[in-house]
Amino acid sequence: MTVLVTGGAGYIGSHMVWELLDSGEKVVVVDNLSKGFDWAVAPEALLVQGDVADSALVGGLIREHAVDSIIHFAGSIVVPESVADPLAYYQNNTCKTRTLIETAVQAGVGNFIFSSTAAVYGDAGIEPVREEARLNPESPYGRSKLMSEWMLRDAAAAHDLRFTALRYFNVAGADPQGRTGQSTPGATHLIKIACETALGKRPFMQVYGTDYPTADGTCVRDYIHVSDLARAHRLALQRLRAGGDSIIANCGYGHGYSVLEVIQAVRRAFGGDFEVRNGDRRPGDAASVVANADLARSELGWAPQHDDLGQIVSDALSWERRLQTMNSVRG
Ligand code: UDP
Repeated sequence: MTVLVTGGAGYIGSHMVWELLDSGEKVVVVDNLSKGFDWAVAPEALLVQGDVADSALVGGLIREHAVDSIIHFAGSIVVPESVADPLAYYQNNTCKTRTLIETAVQAGVGNFIFSSTAAVYGDAGIEPVREEARLNPESPYGRSKLMSEWMLRDAAAAHDLRFTALRYFNVAGADPQGRTGQSTPGATHLIKIACETALGKRPFMQVYGTDYPTADGTCVRDYIHVSDLARAHRLALQRLRAGGDSIIANCGYGHGYSVLEVIQAVRRAFGGDFEVRNGDRRPGDAASVVANADLARSELGWAPQHDDLGQIVSDALSWERRLQTMNSVRG
């Protein structure tokens, strides 16, 4: 049996590939390499450059490699970009996922794990956020993912398909063994930006808003180590293979850190200072977003191993250093 990982050359996907290989799985990756990198894919996995909506390609791979499960990461993830070009997001995230689900159903793949997001909640208002919270995505990105969840639910009701959708909170960090990390240029995420600033790639960074109704006035988020997230997918895979029913589960730790706490953690890990300026609020940011992840723990048996902000930022920083060296070697 083989696992097909879409988007396996990207940030979370490349960690997933290692997690699967480490547990003895055979892995085929389909990635169009629009954002990911071929070198990010573990050499033991088969990388096929192509589109997840190319049903002839994907159907052929499923048959050739006896794929029983798909883990679907491929998609676009930049919220402001989705506001500027919503139809591109509905095409890339929603329409292509529809085709992939259809290919899975037609080829008899019974297990489907989907990369969803806390953005399906919008500003849920009640913390920590449970899966039953009101779904009110505030961006085309969030809606494109929510529509995919709905398609999966309906397809699972009609066909021989079971799925797990994992709603990610703030994914950060890098493989503790340094085999992969977040490599996409132009990333906008706080921990990545703070690490880039510490290493001198940026002259300074900004705190987006210091007047939120939180303890120190800056936004609070639930940062989850990418390796714990990858493990949650592998447990979801085991559960589906054992006949588990379809579920949707949050992936976070259930507690949050403020922007200032994160910056302090990066300073400590770096062992030095860097310039931080107070800036205006970023449109659309909620004051606090923290998961209730009880369901992932009870249903998947998920027991996070890296629930430690210090480790998250030091793994992110180590990867950022490595990336700088690789980029300077590549010129
Ligand atoms: N943030 C910040 N400066 C930055 C990037 C992010 O102050 O350069 C803040 C952002 O406003 C939010 C938090 O850090 O409150 C996490 O943002 P990120 O983009 O990492 O994830 P999001 O929660 O938006 O998905």
